Amino acid sequence: MGASVCVAVVLASSWAMAQAIPYMLTDWACGVIVWPGAVPSYAEHFTQRLTHAAEAAFGFWGYDIPTSVKGAYDEANAFQIHDPATDSVRTIPPLGWADRETLPVVVFAFGSVDAIRLAMGDTELYAAFWSPWPLDPGGSPEVKEWILAVGAGYRNMICTSSATDEVLIHEFAHWFTFQWCYSQGITAPQLPNYIVEGIAEVTCASAKDANSTVYDRLQAYSWAQNKCLTGSIQGVMKYPVGASIVGYLVDTLGTDDFLRTLREWSIRAWLMIDQYQAGWRESLGLPSNCPQEEVESTGV
Ligand SMILES: [Zn+2]
Repeated sequence: MGASVCVAVVLASSWAMAQAIPYMLTDWACGVIVWPGAVPSYAEHFTQRLTHAAEAAFGFWGYDIPTSVKGAYDEANAFQIHDPATDSVRTIPPLGWADRETLPVVVFAFGSVDAIRLAMGDTELYAAFWSPWPLDPGGSPEVKEWILAVGAGYRNMICTSSATDEVLIHEFAHWFTFQWCYSQGITAPQLPNYIVEGIAEVTCASAKDANSTVYDRLQAYSWAQNKCLTGSIQGVMKYPVGASIVGYLVDTLGTDDFLRTLREWSIRAWLMIDQYQAGWRESLGLPSNCPQEEVESTGV
């Protein structure tokens, strides 16, 4: 009871701000889509692509997508959103996955990358963003307030409605990673960032064009010539290096056993690096030992 009172108060105070930016809602298989502005003519096509991308992301790892719970559910796992079309609160039921209830996913489908940048501010964002946690968007305070108010700040995907399948699958792979780790009691945010991005890149690899796959491999090779794996990789190299190491691990261990290594990656990444770095480097055609200078210069 206390929880629902709380939700009502938050919604009431956020309505004024939420209405500052007009939007429309439509359903999708795993939640609700927020369309800033109006629902575009291609909404149905995009909605199908969204569902297919979620199926591809979960399917790569051998899992079905979470689907809406039928019947009774815990209200704490439902999502309440103001529907401007009816000027009322809509309740989106929780999703069921791995014998648990989980929050539905709110997809903000912006019309362009510029519109996202306005909302999110100066981020690394290229075309899409996934967050299981409260977002901290930059950009104008009004838009920030709007995203937090409408999306309630979590289980959000922010993307352009022209995002490629590769991008959508990449983002939903983050959802899968979060969901799988959560189901196993693993703290996903403790994973090295290159493992997180590597999982996403490997998951969407089949939707990538061959040229960018080759380019990614070359980048990983060049990086590993001079550097060693540590707890994280700054900047954009976490994508190709992550794709390379996760690709190697999935090829070597298979998807199930790779997923089982995530617990260790989340609490003792250095042990996993000790165990797998040499084999990974050899798979790239590099000497198994790390370049010594880089080890000293990073102090690890
Ligand atoms: Zn990512």
